[in-house]
Amino acid sequence: MKFDPANQIQDLRHFGEFGDVNPSVTDSATFTFMQAKTMVDTFQGEADGCFLYSRHWNPSNKYLADAMAAMEGTEAGWVTGSGMGAITSAILQLVSCGDHIVSSVTTYGGTFAFLSNYLKKFNIAVSFVDITDLSAVEAAIRPETRLIYTETMTNPLLQISDIPGLSAMANRHGIKLVVDNTFTPMIVSPARLGAHVVVYSLTKFVNGKNDCVAGAICSTNEFINSLIDVNHGTAMLLGPVLDPFRSSSILKNLHTLHIRMKQHSYNAAYLAEKFTASGIRTIYPGLPSHPGHDLLKSMMNPQFGFGGMIAIDLGTAEKASALMEDMELNDVGYLAVSLGYFKTLFSNSGKSTSSEVPEDIQRRMGLSEGLVRYSVGLDNDIERSWMKIADSLRKVGLLKD
Ligand code: PLP
Repeated sequence: MKFDPANQIQDLRHFGEFGDVNPSVTDSATFTFMQAKTMVDTFQGEADGCFLYSRHWNPSNKYLADAMAAMEGTEAGWVTGSGMGAITSAILQLVSCGDHIVSSVTTYGGTFAFLSNYLKKFNIAVSFVDITDLSAVEAAIRPETRLIYTETMTNPLLQISDIPGLSAMANRHGIKLVVDNTFTPMIVSPARLGAHVVVYSLTKFVNGKNDCVAGAICSTNEFINSLIDVNHGTAMLLGPVLDPFRSSSILKNLHTLHIRMKQHSYNAAYLAEKFTASGIRTIYPGLPSHPGHDLLKSMMNPQFGFGGMIAIDLGTAEKASALMEDMELNDVGYLAVSLGYFKTLFSNSGKSTSSEVPEDIQRRMGLSEGLVRYSVGLDNDIERSWMKIADSLRKVGLLKD
């Protein structure tokens, strides 16, 4: 049968402690044992179904991690206190001092800063490449390269990574492909396309409520067990664990993700067409003119659309600011970073979520100072929302008539 991430979530069967339809929240840091030997076995990872300590596993976190693994079609998952917690734990688990990483130059700014600045402490070098140019990616691989890092749909330029192509390359070189799927949950299932490790900021679409930060790592049993190994596991030893109350609330929100993704995509496609028709330079992978359109089509699960993210280029930061301020007053949404919320959010990427990327690199990667990134909300009447946007565009002189 065809893999469908929404069916994977639909088919989860969770009976809580008292038959509760939502599993009980396990409000405990530590867990008791009746036999001392079982505790020893649990420490050694040899007592299935036993919980030891919540930095390692907590039943509420396990429910969410299992649900994320089901959605991704991986053997296992682990949930973290933020997306950065997931990204940094997964990467640090795969590299040692002196190793090398090949990464897309276009990634979330925090990821870029971690790769570009933080890893220097450990003498880990990173080559930043145009991830859409497979020959450039391959040319950057060295004997000490341990992984290729990318985002399925990159932040903020919305480029599309060729996951099967990158996976084949990683396999040829005996290295790992790590993919951040934050922008495209359900739309793309990277592990099914060959990614070895899939990371998420659950803060965004997956949770969808902007009430917490959280993350997830999905991969093989072997990799997840290595992450939480009591002696060598990055997650176990650096401790970026998610709070069980948050796991419980995110799990409930995961069950509506498929409906939300369809609406985000529908609304974004509508706005992308309107922006384009208005003569504004628009980046949206759902537009046939987008260079990654056919590639995304070849990788995506049907029915969830092309995603809720759009970028428009207004040329200058001044115009971007004027438009965003007016749109906020016009109740289009909020001038705020982050994405995947039920209301539309917009920000000038170069001045916010990609501000960690030095300006010369921003220009080199094609990030204009006037780029406004939209995370399109769940508006019921997107035509009405477009009217408000058009009104703001007119007011700041970006639309005639
Ligand atoms: N990955 C992507 C693509 C993001 O956009 C972000 C945050 O904006 C992150 C990871 C980091 O996630 P968090 O803020 O949950 O740590």
